[in-house]
Amino acid sequence: MLDTARKLIRETGRKLGLSQEQIEQLINTDAEHNFEIELSDGNKYHAFRVQHSNKRGPYKGGIRFHPQVDYDEVRALATLMSFKTAVAGIPMGGGKGGIAVDPKELSKEALEELSRKYVQGLKDHIGPDKDVPAPDVNTNSQIIDWMVDEYENLSGDRTKASFTGKSIKNGGSLGRDAATGRGGVIVLREILNKSSISGPITFALQGWGNVGSFFALVAEKEHPDWKLVAATDSSGGVYNANGLSAEDLDKFKKDGGKLADFMIGKKIDNQELLRLDADVLVLAALENAVDENNVDEIKAKIVLELANGPVTYLGYEALNAKEVMDIPDILANAGGVIVSYLEWAQNKAGEHWTEDKVNKELEKYLTSATRQVYERSKKDKLSLKEAAFAEAIVRLIS
Ligand code: NAD
Repeated sequence: MLDTARKLIRETGRKLGLSQEQIEQLINTDAEHNFEIELSDGNKYHAFRVQHSNKRGPYKGGIRFHPQVDYDEVRALATLMSFKTAVAGIPMGGGKGGIAVDPKELSKEALEELSRKYVQGLKDHIGPDKDVPAPDVNTNSQIIDWMVDEYENLSGDRTKASFTGKSIKNGGSLGRDAATGRGGVIVLREILNKSSISGPITFALQGWGNVGSFFALVAEKEHPDWKLVAATDSSGGVYNANGLSAEDLDKFKKDGGKLADFMIGKKIDNQELLRLDADVLVLAALENAVDENNVDEIKAKIVLELANGPVTYLGYEALNAKEVMDIPDILANAGGVIVSYLEWAQNKAGEHWTEDKVNKELEKYLTSATRQVYERSKKDKLSLKEAAFAEAIVRLIS
């Protein structure tokens, strides 16, 4: 992911005529923190926070709890965040954090201790106007609430603007849960409006999690002519050319089901999903899902990158060669960070907005961002991915 992000920055920077020094400035991180957390049971864990750029505002980015978290992953995600906040047009920078841990192996008490000690280790480097972390993979509003409480105890700050992704009762924003999926719907709608692909469309979705499920649910409600024909989770999933009900799939998942066991439709695995004859392939699971080994199998006309880094650089080049439109992650999944920014803004102003107001603001930011990226891609003859990076570079460099 780090290689892919840096290659895109270098290639796009060169096309924009940037000097080598300017390109390196875009790639370098401002600061990197790493420390060991020892819990009272004696277990030790490696913790990271990378601050990539605060040129446009406080560093902003999630905290991931996962056994595979390492410096390169956190660097890649921090870099993507700076470009994402720039494309989205919000006054925030880019950062990311993580702890190399499998949270499922920890008791609730140990998880709370770990979360609080993470904040103790970073207290001088974070805060409402310095660096505003949020949840990411395996972290949630409960973990963030513990972190906010620890930060308040250490700093005396009571604004709640030190973290986003809090529970609603603790200053979180309405609309945050659905924001990334909803944002994906807005971006796809805008691109379809501009492209030659008109009329009803079919889509196949990899990754029925937070992002993927809200994408499908919002699409079902707002675009009845977008037909969901396949959906998978890590167990595999189902295909039905006549269409699947997002609401039924969501209920099945919420009741603890695996999509491989969903009874309506033909069983498929995650590789078969890529080969399906659907207009749009929505990637909402993990990084590197499409690479040079499986890209030839893709039949979709559009790939929507809802996950972070789901297409490798070689995969992206092959999609371009096949004239498949690849809508990049830094635009397609920016809805999450936009509503995180709106949460921070509400906390700073001491306000609580209605969900309708949050959704209207999200719509405004993403419609404008998508139109700007699309126009740049046409004007400068760039792919959508290059155009998104170009828009961000121009804003980060000036
Ligand atoms: P999640 O854990 O809720 O969902 C991930 C889903 O992917 C799960 O259903 C899981 O079963 C499935 N999955 C895992 N491996 C798979 C595989 N090999 N094939 C198919 N499905 C597989 O996570 P999420 O919050 O929905 O995040 C998904 C992606 O979106 C991640 O890359 C994340 O970084 C990115 N993202 C999330 C947000 C957000 O607001 N949650 C914002 C921006 C980007």
